[in-house]
Order: sequence, then structure tokens, then C-alpha cells
Amino acid sequence: MEKRQFATGDVVRMKKKHPCGSDRWQVLRTGADFRLQCEGCGRQMMMPRSAVEKNIREIVKNA
Ligand SMILES: [Zn+2]
Repeated sequence: MEKRQFATGDVVRMKKKHPCGSDRWQVLRTGADFRLQCEGCGRQMMMPRSAVEKNIREIVKNA
């Protein structure tokens, strides 16, 4: 699988939808753990980079 380049401010589309119905998350912090903010409801969560790479569909927008 190709290595993806993530940057703070990117919006990523995930395979799994958030309960609020949105599948888009903004990247607030990168690293071993990512901090993501749901674009639908504004909720934040931490996710290991490996999980982000496994669940991502596409990078919608680059900062
Ligand atoms: Zn949400």
C-alpha cells in the first residue's frame, strides 16, 4: 500500500461513518496518534496512525 502524506488541516474521508452521518474528518494533529475532528458534529478523537491509514478512503483537501 502506498504511503500517504498527511498534514495538519487536511480533510480525510473514512470508510466508517461517524454516528452523526459524516465521514469527513479534519486532521488537527499528525504523528504516531492523530487527532481528528468530525466535520459533521465537531467531536474530536484520537486514532493511531495505522488505524487512520487502514480506514481512509481519500484525502479530500490539503491544507
Ligand atoms: Zn460526527
